[in-house]
Amino acid sequence: MPMELFTCAGGALCLPTRDGALVSRADGGNLIVNPPRKVWERSELTLDELRNWSCLVAAAGAAMLRTLPQLDGGCINYWEAGNWALNPLAPPEGGKRAPDHRSMHLHLLGRSMESADPNWRWGESPVFPRYAERADWLHENDRLTPAEAQAIVAATAQILTDKYGFARADIDLAQPCPSCAYPVAGKTPGKPVRCVECAA
Ligand SMILES: [Zn+2]
Repeated sequence: MPMELFTCAGGALCLPTRDGALVSRADGGNLIVNPPRKVWERSELTLDELRNWSCLVAAAGAAMLRTLPQLDGGCINYWEAGNWALNPLAPPEGGKRAPDHRSMHLHLLGRSMESADPNWRWGESPVFPRYAERADWLHENDRLTPAEAQAIVAATAQILTDKYGFARADIDLAQPCPSCAYPVAGKTPGKPVRCVECAA
């Protein structure tokens, strides 16, 4: 399960699993934005949910561009896919209809001008692996570091407040995990808690 770094009325900003990043941090980095409620398609969200989620998506993308030096002159590709969960080989095995098996989520894919990865060459469309090849392909990619994630979370909260008018009560305080220092999304301030990866 991707780890929640930051939560607010718009949903959750998440770090991919250790072997789940689509882009290495040096090539631009990869984060995921989940909606405030599990839906198979964004049109299933209410107007308020859609508006708040769209604000979180834009704020998180802007935060990556603002804080990551590797994105100087670069950009973000916003990628809503969820295709692998529908593969006949994905559990449960067999044919799947999207409304029954898809969980809408959006990948923020950082695109660095300096990317050395042939799949993420600047000025080209990204190249994604086939379902069967995804494990070998993904484990090569490094996630954003705890320090990078902390800077992105802080900037996301600031943009949501300053630009999109989110109230303090709409944003949950994130605190660093005492073991790995990745931000841990939390609804109640107080004693720092370990992230789901360190607690496992
Ligand atoms: Zn941790």
